[in-house]
Amino acid sequence: MSKSKSSESVKVVVRCRPMNEKERAAGFERVVSLDVKLGQIMVKNPREASANEPPKVFTFDSVYDWNSKQIDLYDETFRPLVDSVLLGFNGTIFAYGQTGTGKTYTMEGLRKDPERRGVIPNSFEHIFTHISRSQNQQYLVRASYLEIYQEEIRDLLSKDQSRRLELRERPDVGVHVRDLSSFVTKSVREIENVMNIGNQNRSVGATNMNEHSSRSHAIFVITVECSEMGVDEENHIRVGKLNLVDLAGSERQSKTGAQGERLKEATKINLSLSALGNVISALVDGRSSHIPYRDSKLTRLLQDSLGGNARTVMVANIGPASYNVEETLTTLRYANRAKNIKNKPRINEDPKDAMLRTFQEEILRLKEQLKKRVGKKERRKQRRRRADGGRDGDDQEEGETEDDDDEDKGEYWKEQQEKLERERRAIVEDHSLVAEEKAQLLKEKEKKMEDLRREKEAGEKLAAKVKDMESKLLVGGKNIVDHTNEQQRVLEQKRQEIAEQKRREREMRQQMDNRDEETLELKETYSSLQQEVDIKTKKLKKLFSKLQAVKGEIEDVKEQHISERQEHEQIQDELTRELKLKQLILENFIPQDEKNKISSRMFFDEEEESWRMKPITRLEEDHQMMSRPQSAVGYRRPLSRDARYKAENVLTLAMDMPTRTTRDYQEPVIDPKTAAALEDALREENEIQVDASDHSSLGAAFSSGTRHRGVTRPRTGRKSGTPSPGNPLYPQPRGLVPK
Ligand code: ADP
Ligand code: MG
Repeated sequence: MSKSKSSESVKVVVRCRPMNEKERAAGFERVVSLDVKLGQIMVKNPREASANEPPKVFTFDSVYDWNSKQIDLYDETFRPLVDSVLLGFNGTIFAYGQTGTGKTYTMEGLRKDPERRGVIPNSFEHIFTHISRSQNQQYLVRASYLEIYQEEIRDLLSKDQSRRLELRERPDVGVHVRDLSSFVTKSVREIENVMNIGNQNRSVGATNMNEHSSRSHAIFVITVECSEMGVDEENHIRVGKLNLVDLAGSERQSKTGAQGERLKEATKINLSLSALGNVISALVDGRSSHIPYRDSKLTRLLQDSLGGNARTVMVANIGPASYNVEETLTTLRYANRAKNIKNKPRINEDPKDAMLRTFQEEILRLKEQLKKRVGKKERRKQRRRRADGGRDGDDQEEGETEDDDDEDKGEYWKEQQEKLERERRAIVEDHSLVAEEKAQLLKEKEKKMEDLRREKEAGEKLAAKVKDMESKLLVGGKNIVDHTNEQQRVLEQKRQEIAEQKRREREMRQQMDNRDEETLELKETYSSLQQEVDIKTKKLKKLFSKLQAVKGEIEDVKEQHISERQEHEQIQDELTRELKLKQLILENFIPQDEKNKISSRMFFDEEEESWRMKPITRLEEDHQMMSRPQSAVGYRRPLSRDARYKAENVLTLAMDMPTRTTRDYQEPVIDPKTAAALEDALREENEIQVDASDHSSLGAAFSSGTRHRGVTRPRTGRKSGTPSPGNPLYPQPRGLVPK
């Protein structure tokens, strides 16, 4: 557990899933074979099989075939990584591969089945068991969950799923997602809950879950902070961050034929993944000094894990069937390259953004506050005692411990309340007081009681808060208990030992294999010329086949390269065409002035890495709009004699108007019938003139549009719609026509 400064390679393992029902039913040939003991994988390309090509062989840290168990993978490959996270290293696990090859199965697995749980749930168990067995350490565990889809980051734990988050970079904490929510979790159940919520949100945002999940990257982040007393008698905090990454499917998205928006979408979908490939290539190339981390969100976010200070494991998932062989080979080549990435893992000790420190300080502060409250009470209590005549003024309370503090507190409140109640009753029963005075006194007492209650509540709240915060800091054996019994524990240990042994055996075998070839050449002595010829021929054959394999590999890579290049050229063509169109529009339809204005408002946002426009209203920075021409309407004529400025001065330049946010006022339209009825109803009684014989006037009162021209009906002089107070809005019908 030394703070190793030495570099170590990214660990790469390959896992091949079993044939699925469909593949078996369709009778697909299996083209992948694995040598688990040696960590080798052989792929026979059916296309080239006839041309008696040897199978392609790849060697990895370990390989897992279709019989591999989740727990074996965990014990052999992931457990050491999670262990180092618990020591304060950053760790990352990537699952890479074509869609449907078992990335999600490896990362999450089937949650309900303990046998088939993936790395993420297994790591929960591991982390909390570790904490429960720890001594003299305080832990804080929190989890975040995010997704990158089309280069947009979504917080899978936030309430607002429509929001997109941004990446920020700070020298002290590095690249991080701004406003990403994280949940402090106290147990396996709680962190599982967090994961479930995230998974639900993941599918909520997706119109087609299968397609969405195959095109997005999901990152589950567990941060484990541990505080421990160092040899220098100071508390030290180590922070380990575990990134669990389920990458988008590595199959190439078809971009051919796509145009405009669709093309942009298609290029964006796998941008992060191809950027990841470029970063890996640049890292292992050795010649390039520039590593294009900034090309995508994923690579920026996981910069530490690739050539940085984290420990990294990559799981390359493949399928065994013949129709997948191209993708399988691509994946294996990709993984083969990643093997050569060198990281320099480092323990994060006392980082500035440790949440545990903030927690500890906050708890201390609250406790201090609580103590002060108690102190105040104590003083009051003593004062009260003294006022009582000092009957039991002996300092009995001196040796008070924290334990009887609680009890004491409760008693104190009760006492106070009872006292106030007694006083209140005394006032009620006191007949010598005038009613008014009594009411006044009672009011005062009630206020006091209210204050007392409030104070009590505040104290309780504070205590609850302290308790809550303390419960989040996990301490082994106390607030998190290990339930496994001795037997299970031994079993666990044995399993881990076996895993370690297997790993070592594999390493040794790989080394032996390499050495065999070397020593063969050195040690050989030949008894006859014929033997020498035989042996050398054999060797030659071996070397020749090796050469062929390498040549074949070169051909393959070339082919792949060419097809990639063609695709890129096509994209470039499309983009150039689009650019030309935009330029044409710009040249032919946008006046030069406007163009200048716009271009002077443009600026490059370093944080966002995109071009943006400054708002128009910020005049002080916008010189083109600052100076008003002197000849502007209502102002004096130009003073300048300089011919150069004259022309400018008489120009009236149109101002950039900000977009309007208001509307013209429009009177509400009232249906004329309603208006007439209303007006009628609101007229005062004596103003109503009724003339049953005059049909035209009655008609005028009710016919629409003639209301204002009506001659027979007097005006009420009151605005319609505002009845005087007391007048009902709708008076009783009064029968306008007398009998
Ligand atoms: P991906 O996430 O790479 O698209 P999935 O993890 O969804 O692929 O796997 C596709 C299917 O294959 C799932 O039904 C899964 O249960 C199954 N599967 C994958 N790997 C294995 C394995 N090692 N053993 C058994 N079933 C597997
Ligand atoms: Mg998946």
